[in-house]
Amino acid sequence: MLRILGTGFAALAGLAFGSFLNVCLSRWPAGESVVAPRSHCRSCGHTLAWWENVPLASWLALRGRCRGCGARIGWRYPLVELAVGTLWAACAWPFTGQLLQPSASAVEVYAGLTAMLGGMILYWLLVALAVLDAEQFWLPDRLTWPGIALGFVYSVLASWLSRQSLPSSSLHATSAHAAVASLVAIAAAGGLILFIRWVYWLIRRHEGIGLGDAKLMALLAAWLGFSGALVAFGLGVFLGALVALGILAFSSARKDAKEWALTKLPLGTFLCVGGIVSGLWGKPIIAAYLRWTGLH
Ligand SMILES: [Zn+2]
Repeated sequence: MLRILGTGFAALAGLAFGSFLNVCLSRWPAGESVVAPRSHCRSCGHTLAWWENVPLASWLALRGRCRGCGARIGWRYPLVELAVGTLWAACAWPFTGQLLQPSASAVEVYAGLTAMLGGMILYWLLVALAVLDAEQFWLPDRLTWPGIALGFVYSVLASWLSRQSLPSSSLHATSAHAAVASLVAIAAAGGLILFIRWVYWLIRRHEGIGLGDAKLMALLAAWLGFSGALVAFGLGVFLGALVALGILAFSSARKDAKEWALTKLPLGTFLCVGGIVSGLWGKPIIAAYLRWTGLH
């Protein structure tokens, strides 16, 4: 019961943070403040009453239209709220379960708390970057660089906590090792994208992959480690290829086929989706892959 309450609370907090994220996603590209003025319709300026600003419920009650002018309120609003709410609940579920175990030590509880809060920050960032790249082809430095720094701190802290619960004599690794390993993972993942970008440029002589994608991969490696970032990359490229094939198949039946075939795809969005999947199920995916290839 307590577990369900705790997870439900995390889901509600996620809806609220998703709602705030929607404000950021609409105002950042226009260079507006996210604090003032109060929430308003972006086509008529009508200021929202509190009941028009409740995550998810208001969008459903208003049937996705502004009460003042009837302008459509995009699907992105409820989707972002739902995504952050669901992901935050997924982060809280293991931790609330751990809290109820009388055998859990203080260090284990701190490790669980760190994993939960870290997951919440990471998924909030990934939902933000996914939408910004899809809508604006923009992966802003103000999100990627702090995201990399936070992920680095998180990795060092998580590794320190996991070592506290083990007998100290059995370990040689220190926080310095963890810090170096994390920096190497960050550099390798970012470098991988820079390398692909350079090869692409050599062949095609124009920019195929942006620098933002390299920083996003570095961010994924900071939080998920190099293997987790590779899983995200593999999933993201696979998903992007599927969408590209879908667009090609659809556009061949259209008159403006050529324009459709040139549709630019937001690689960053696919990487973010891959990153969320990797964060939630990365370990079982890697284990299944190793079993399948007979490496393990
Ligand atoms: Zn309006």
